[in-house]
Amino acid sequence: MNAHMSVTAAPALIDPFARLIKYVRLSVTDRCDFRCVYCMSEEMQFLPRERVLKLEEIARLGKIFSGLGVETFRLTGGEPLLRRDLPWLVEQLASHSEVVMTTNGARLDQFAKALKQAGLSRLNISLDTLNEQQFHELTRTGHLKDVLKGIDAAQHAGFAIKLNVVMMKGRNDDQILPLVAFAQTRGLDISFIEEMPLGVIHEHSRQITFMASHEIRQIIANEMPLIPSQYQTTGPSRYWEIESNLPNQTKTRIGFISPHSHNFCGDCNRVRVTSEGRLLLCLGNEHSIDLMSSLRSSANDTEIASNIQNALAQKPEKHHFDLNDTPQIVRFMNMTGG
Ligand code: SAM
Ligand code: SF4
Repeated sequence: MNAHMSVTAAPALIDPFARLIKYVRLSVTDRCDFRCVYCMSEEMQFLPRERVLKLEEIARLGKIFSGLGVETFRLTGGEPLLRRDLPWLVEQLASHSEVVMTTNGARLDQFAKALKQAGLSRLNISLDTLNEQQFHELTRTGHLKDVLKGIDAAQHAGFAIKLNVVMMKGRNDDQILPLVAFAQTRGLDISFIEEMPLGVIHEHSRQITFMASHEIRQIIANEMPLIPSQYQTTGPSRYWEIESNLPNQTKTRIGFISPHSHNFCGDCNRVRVTSEGRLLLCLGNEHSIDLMSSLRSSANDTEIASNIQNALAQKPEKHHFDLNDTPQIVRFMNMTGG
């Protein structure tokens, strides 16, 4: 190459701490058919529809992010499957990137096949208990049988599935071993999540119910050998492995997401877009910029891409969660997705 020729680097999203952003979580709605006790209060006010991004606007953002080097999109919410045309969005995003989703699973029976055909790669399904009554207490409005039916349909459609469990002492810690056994029997992976102090809830004291990942790991290790795993996804889970109960099945992986006991911000590779179109730079902080106004103005894609790149300067180094019963972040998890 001629020494005077300059090479133009591909556009990329890099924050002030030299972290490369390749992963975007898109909250496609703040609404949900469940009211999980750690995620929402019983009475919730949802956004009027005109203040929620349209699926076409999300698809446009997806293309812009992809042009900035983003490789994976996670659809989340609220409950993403409340958006009836979600397979259409999956198809748009999957035409240029990997698309994965987090769901409560209750509508998968209806959607699994269409999502697979649209190009969705993987599914995280939230399931905190296998006890019907406890399930109803934790979700307030959900029914366990719907989620189990959803898991069946997703497996039938050929999805790789990881279960997500928010573990709370005195609420569902009797379910650690039954959920691990369920994952083993069904050939699923499973991650245990420490509850985060997002939004003011009244159902329990997060200080009292807090259960650290190492406590959960010990309960499992007392029953079966846990082998540290090299497996790593784009997410913050750290993995161990156990034997599967299925013949010829690869090992079941058990992940731990530990926002309190093991801060993972040093490796952060992600940003989020809230259901009202704010680019949120960190789940545990409020630094954000408004993308909806740009999308609804005459701004072209290059201008929006440049707004996104400039916003990265605001990405904080880390979250500072503490377990006070008055959380610093009043925003509920359904606005931003997990
Ligand atoms: N409705 C979908 C679901 O439940 O899977 C997607 C949205 S939900 C907000 C995404 C994930 O966040 C779920 O796995 C949920 O368990 C988790 N989550 C919600 N509130 C949380 C909290 N306060 N602390 C930790 N995880 C939480
Ligand atoms: Fe809905 Fe998911 Fe929040 Fe439960 S965790 S209330 S299913 S958004």
